Amino acid sequence: MHDMKIPYYSFAFQNQLMNDELIAQFQNVLISATYIRGNFCDQFEKDYAEHTKSKYAIGCGNGFDALKIALKSLGIGKGDEVIVPANTYIATWMAVSAVVADIIPVEPDSMTGNITPDEILNQITSKTKAIIPVHLYGRICQMDAIMKLASENNLFVIEDNAQAHFAKLNNKYAGTFGHVNATSFYPGKNLGAYGDAGAITTDHKNFADFSRKYSNYGSGEKYYNDIIGENSRLDELQAALLVTRIKFASKFNEIRVQNAVMYHQLIKNNEKIILPELLTNGEHVYHIFRIRCRKRDELQKFLYEKGIQTLIHYPVPPFLQNCYKNEFEADMFPKTSLQASESLSLPIYPGLTNNQIEFIADAINQFTETKL
Ligand SMILES: *Cc1c(COP(=O)(O)O)cnc(C)c1O
Repeated sequence: MHDMKIPYYSFAFQNQLMNDELIAQFQNVLISATYIRGNFCDQFEKDYAEHTKSKYAIGCGNGFDALKIALKSLGIGKGDEVIVPANTYIATWMAVSAVVADIIPVEPDSMTGNITPDEILNQITSKTKAIIPVHLYGRICQMDAIMKLASENNLFVIEDNAQAHFAKLNNKYAGTFGHVNATSFYPGKNLGAYGDAGAITTDHKNFADFSRKYSNYGSGEKYYNDIIGENSRLDELQAALLVTRIKFASKFNEIRVQNAVMYHQLIKNNEKIILPELLTNGEHVYHIFRIRCRKRDELQKFLYEKGIQTLIHYPVPPFLQNCYKNEFEADMFPKTSLQASESLSLPIYPGLTNNQIEFIADAINQFTETKL
């Protein structure tokens, strides 16, 4: 067991299950001779809309563009304040910067890492135009309360659903609560493509029409340009592979939940290691199995020496990054800073074996018994 090597992530099991279909899709795209916004793009947009129960899904280049286009479609720009999590992947912040709006960070709940309605409410001003909840680690935010608060304060909501494909709250999927929502199909996400890809989802035709045009040079009809847009199109190859990949999405999510259940059974419950809440009702799809430990760096090293690779989501919060640190005080978001120093992400990918999960849990129990 000592030389067992467990990577943080592996595509092997997933790719093997889909191998024949993926290769067939490659060939289908090749012979179709349409490589951008053709039938596969239409098909995937239809599939994604149906699977999420959104009225409209618009494929685009990546998750960042999806966020930016969502903000643009809502007319958010200079002078507008947008509430975002202090604790998130930096793409959420940079999308707000890209439309030249002001970033208003909100501290996370220490347990979930997500923003909460109470903290959001504290930051609302007369300039606030929108809230971007991020379903961090795959755990859906308190969307009912956030939507209520948004409607009471006349704000738009843009869900950043890059990490929580098919997580649901009361049978409603992440990415269908907000006015215009964004997601990423970056390869390592729960629903991942084989390159860059993203999508915007909405139930509103006007926002859908805008997003579709904006992402294709402002053009609805070829060579006629209604608005000044950009090029952020979903290519046919990614769309075709996603048509296959999406069929496996719920199965792979179920496996992630089973892995989370196993971690909960095996990692000894003590105050020294804090596990994410175990939710088997769909509210958490465990994109990331983020645990917390005061001696995180030591734990990471201990696991590494046993051949277990872990990651930190995220070691440096956006407000402390070089690109933003001049705009914020270093001690401004202590809860976020604490998360950055205590968080550790364990492998949870589909294909991780029961033996491997046992090995990881044993190692963690050993660490708590001997080093904490
Ligand atoms: C991955 C991710 C994004 C960005 O997606 P890309 O496709 O890489 O641009 C945005 N927000 C969050 C929370 C993410 O995890």
